[in-house]
Amino acid sequence: MRILKPAECWTPKLRVRSFGNNNMAALCKGARRFKRIIFCHSLVRGFSGKYEYDIVVIGGGSGGLACAKEAAQYGKKVAVLDYVDPSPKGTKWGLGGTCVNVGCIPKKLMHQSALLGGALKDAAKYGWNVPHQPSHCWATMSLAVQNYVKSLNWGHRVQLQDRKVKYFNLKGQLTDGHTVIGTNKSGKETVLTTQDIVIATGSRPKYPVHVPGAVEHGISSDDIFWMKESPGKTLVVGASYVGLECAGFLTGIGLDVTVLVRSLALRGFDQQMAGLVTEHMDSHGTKFLWRRVPRKVEKLPSGSLQVTWVETSSDREEQDTFDTVLWAVGRAPVTRALNLDAAGVKLDEDTGKIIVSANEETSVPHVFAMGDVAKGRPELTPPSIRAGRLLARRLAGVSTEIMDYDNVPTTVFTPLEYSCVGLSEAEARRLYREGGIEVYHAFYKPLEFAVAQRDSSQCYIKAVCLRDGDQRILGLHFTGPNAGEVMQGFALGVRCGATYSHLMNTVGIHPTCAEELTKLHISKRSGLDATVTGC
Ligand code: FAD
Ligand code: NDP
Repeated sequence: MRILKPAECWTPKLRVRSFGNNNMAALCKGARRFKRIIFCHSLVRGFSGKYEYDIVVIGGGSGGLACAKEAAQYGKKVAVLDYVDPSPKGTKWGLGGTCVNVGCIPKKLMHQSALLGGALKDAAKYGWNVPHQPSHCWATMSLAVQNYVKSLNWGHRVQLQDRKVKYFNLKGQLTDGHTVIGTNKSGKETVLTTQDIVIATGSRPKYPVHVPGAVEHGISSDDIFWMKESPGKTLVVGASYVGLECAGFLTGIGLDVTVLVRSLALRGFDQQMAGLVTEHMDSHGTKFLWRRVPRKVEKLPSGSLQVTWVETSSDREEQDTFDTVLWAVGRAPVTRALNLDAAGVKLDEDTGKIIVSANEETSVPHVFAMGDVAKGRPELTPPSIRAGRLLARRLAGVSTEIMDYDNVPTTVFTPLEYSCVGLSEAEARRLYREGGIEVYHAFYKPLEFAVAQRDSSQCYIKAVCLRDGDQRILGLHFTGPNAGEVMQGFALGVRCGATYSHLMNTVGIHPTCAEELTKLHISKRSGLDATVTGC
C-alpha cells in the first residue's frame, strides 16, 4: 500500500479516496482484492470524523440532486456520483438525470413545439396571415431543446459547486453500508466512505429483447430527444405516458405516427379519461392499432424498418414499414451495477426495485433509496425531489417529517392534456362501493376553441366524491388546455381535504377552463346531459 503525500491526495487524476481509522482494516482487505491504491485520509488531512463524507448520493437525477443540495445546506459533507451509461444506440447526456435530459424537460418542450403548430392554425382564424402550409424543422427544434438541456446540465454542476457538494462523474457501487466505490469510464476506481448512502439511480427504458431486431433497430425515449434528424414515419410501441406523449408531439409536428397498443391505453389511469385522450389523438392524426404485439423488426435494403406484429385475438400477422421504431414498453429500475446483493440491500422480486420503508430506508441500515428506483414510489419528478429533500433533512437531524405519497397530481402531456389527482372513478367504486360515491362531470368548451372552431368533444371534467356527509373529493380529472396548470391549485385543495361544497363555494375566474371545475353540478347518476351551455 502506498501512502500518498497530502499534495497528491486531492489531485482528481489519482482517483483515490480515504478511509476513517475504524474500518481501515476491513477496507484494506477489500482494497487488496481490488488492487487499489489506498491512503489513510486521517493521516493526511487530520480528519477527525469516522467517515470521509456524511452522505454519498449515487445518482444525480431529480431525487439525488435535491437530496444532496438540501443536505449540504444543513452543513453536511456530501458527495454525488452520477454516471450515464449510453443507450444501446449510443446516446448519452450530462448531469441531471432522466427528467432534465431524456424526460420531462425535452418532452415538454417538444410538446410545446407541437402545440405551436396547432396555434398557427388557430392564428389564421384570429386574423394572422399564416402561410397556407407552415413547415416544421426537426433539426432547429432539437438543437434548441438540446442546447437548453445542456444549459441545465451546466446549471446543476454550478449549483453543486456553490453548495460545496463534491460531484464525481463515476458509476457507484456499494461494498457495505458505509462504503461506495466509484468507477470512471476508463475503469479506474475511487473509494468513498460515508455515514449514510442514498441510492437514487432511477430507471431506464426497457426493450422487448425477445423481439428479434428490437434492440438493434429500435430506439427509446433515451434517444428520441437527441436525434439530429427527424425520426420520420414512426411506430410507437406502448400506450402509456411515454408512448402517448411521444406519439402526440411527433404527430403534432406533422409526422406519420402509429401506436401499437398491447391491451389498453394509460393503464392505471381513469379509463374514461384515457379514452378521451386517445380519441382526441386519433381524430388529430395518430393511428392506433389495438391489441397488437410486436413480433420482429427487420431492416430492408432501402434502410426502412419492416415491422411485423400480431393481432392478439386472431393471431393474425400484419406488417408495415417505418423509418423509426420507438419502444415505450416501460422502464426498469437501475440496480444491476450497484452490487446490492453483496451489500445486503433487498430487492422486490416482481419489480426489481429496492424495498424501502416509509422513511426510505432499505434493508441495510444507513442505506436509503428514493425516486424511481425505490419500490412503490410514483415515477415522477416532484415526488422524487420532495422525498430527496425530506430525507436530507432527516439525515441532517433537523426534521422527522416523512414523504406523504398520497394525492400526488400528475399530467399526461398528450396533445389534449390530461391531469388528475387522487382516485380514478373505478378505484373509488372499488374502495367505496357503487353506492358510496357521487361523480360530478361536465363536457365544456374552452373559449379559445370557439373562434378557432376547434372540436372540444374531449374536453371533460370529472370530480369523484364520497356520496355521504360533506362529500369529500376523492379524485379530480381534467382534459383540456394547460391541464397541469389547472390541476396544480386544485391538488392543494384535495390535499387539504376539500369537499364538493368547498368546490362549489370557490368563486371561478372568468373566462377560464379551470372555472368549469367550480361549476360542476350534474351528477353522473342523474343521467342528465353534462354539456356546459353558455357562461
Ligand atoms: P433519475 O432522474 O433517472 O436519475 C438517476 C441518475 O442516476 C441518472 O443520471 C443515472 O444515469 C444515474 N445513475 C444510475 N446508476 C448509477 C450509478 N451506479 N452510479 C452513478 N450514477 C448512476 N415526470 C414528471 O414528473 N413529469 C413529466 O412530465 C415526466 N415526463 C417524463 C417523460 C419521459 C420520456 C420519461 C422517461 C420520464 C418522465 N418523467 C416525468 C419521470 C421522471 O423523469 C422521473 O420520475 C424522475 O427523473 C426520477 O428521478 P430519479 O432521481 O429517481 O432518477
Ligand atoms: P408504463 O410501464 O407505464 O407503460 C408501458 C406500456 O408499454 C404499456 O402500455 C404496456 O402495455 C406496454 N408494453 C409493455 N410491454 C410490452 C410489450 N412487450 N409489447 C407491447 N407493449 C408493451 O411505462 P412508461 O414508459 O410509459 O412510463 C414509465 C413511468 O414514467 C410512468 O409510470 C410515469 O410515472 C413516468 N412518466 C411520467 C410522465 C409524466 O409525468 N407526464 C411522462 C412519461 C413517463 P400494457 O398496458 O398492456 O401492459
